[in-house]
Amino acid sequence: NEALARAESLIRTIPDYPEPGILFRDITPLLADGAALTAVIDAMIEPFAGTFDVVAGVEARGFLLAGAVAMRADVGLVPIRKAGKLPRPAASVDYALEYGTATIEAHDDIADGTRVLLVDDVLATGGTLVAAHELVGALGGVVVGTAVLMELEALGGRAAVGDVCSVFTA
Ligand code: IMP
Repeated sequence: NEALARAESLIRTIPDYPEPGILFRDITPLLADGAALTAVIDAMIEPFAGTFDVVAGVEARGFLLAGAVAMRADVGLVPIRKAGKLPRPAASVDYALEYGTATIEAHDDIADGTRVLLVDDVLATGGTLVAAHELVGALGGVVVGTAVLMELEALGGRAAVGDVCSVFTA
């Protein structure tokens, strides 16, 4: 697929960001290109088309993709936010980072049994998406799968997260 190949070429790789030794995948040039953005959003939806009632996107880059996925698939959106940003969090999950811990929270605006597609930009170790999965479960939602733009294979997140479809791998 030509549009996807072009989209992939627009992902910028930045050495030593945010810390020395990290190769950061910067998707902003892809987001800025209309045809590339449409191609990747369609590719994220395709494996899960018709299987989900709502999209849950992870702050902050996941929001950029989740909104587009939700509109294109004609479903709603649940934001999964970093701790302290939502006025009425109904569930909260702590998870480990390389240094320290983080917490994500969500409002409970979905009915029990709602089928949820998780969306994020990059799958690395999988810690964030495993926590997001647990959070959706705590709200009574059922995760039908996870769609990410890019998977960093060497970090092994796929084994932890389960049913992941990535548009690009690196
Ligand atoms: P994980 O929890 O280790 O899988 O890390 C995934 C989270 O870190 C995602 O929410 C990503 O937004 C972010 N992340 C990790 N590596 C990168 C990267 O190279 N580019 C952009 N975001 C990244």
